[in-house]
Amino acid sequence: MKIKRIAHLGIAVKDVDAAKKLYGEGLKLAFQGDEVVATQKVQVSFFKAGESSLELLLPTAADSPVAKFLETRGEGFHHMALEVENIDEAVASLKAAGVRLIDETPREGAHGTRVAFIHPKSTFGLLLELVEYPH
Ligand code: ZN
Repeated sequence: MKIKRIAHLGIAVKDVDAAKKLYGEGLKLAFQGDEVVATQKVQVSFFKAGESSLELLLPTAADSPVAKFLETRGEGFHHMALEVENIDEAVASLKAAGVRLIDETPREGAHGTRVAFIHPKSTFGLLLELVEYPH
């Protein structure tokens, strides 16, 4: 398994317009666009921060996993995404090592990516996303 970089940090927000204003106008990060990820019932908004990005997460439905997160934990840091070269290989390797995964098989993410989440119980409390970009 080869990790290439920290792809992005995900931040759960209730007021995406206020958050966009802060990161775009306040921190002057370049806005990379919005996308609704229907399977996760979430709208994601990306800002470029050097080699990595920030991903604002806004739930699009009351039963979205991000809505549940906001209810129990409030706004704030949600997950870290690591870019891997080959997500199928990464998932197989982690399974073989006995790591608990939320996604046993990679699924569709934003911007044509394939993603798989690792359970925080296996990562000392951090929700970790693996992401493979289209080649
Ligand atoms: Zn993410």
